[in-house]
Amino acid sequence: MARETKEQKSVRLLMQQRVRFEVLTRGFVAGTVRGDGEDYEFRRDPRGRWDCTCPHGRGTCSHLLQVKDIYRAVLPALPEE
Ligand SMILES: [Zn+2]
Repeated sequence: MARETKEQKSVRLLMQQRVRFEVLTRGFVAGTVRGDGEDYEFRRDPRGRWDCTCPHGRGTCSHLLQVKDIYRAVLPALPEE
């Protein structure tokens, strides 16, 4: 089987409901994602910096890819701060 791309993994995590948001506002986002074997914490600070505690979490891991997709999708519904 071909190696799973980050995009494919992002969809898989979404379908398996592995992401849990604890804070979801325009400025600040935080929550946990159940990875393959371990849980990781992600966050977005008000300056727009994303971070994930997984080993690839410098803004480009599959967890953040998915979280950012969700964030962008719900952004219009989030109250102005
Ligand atoms: Zn990650």
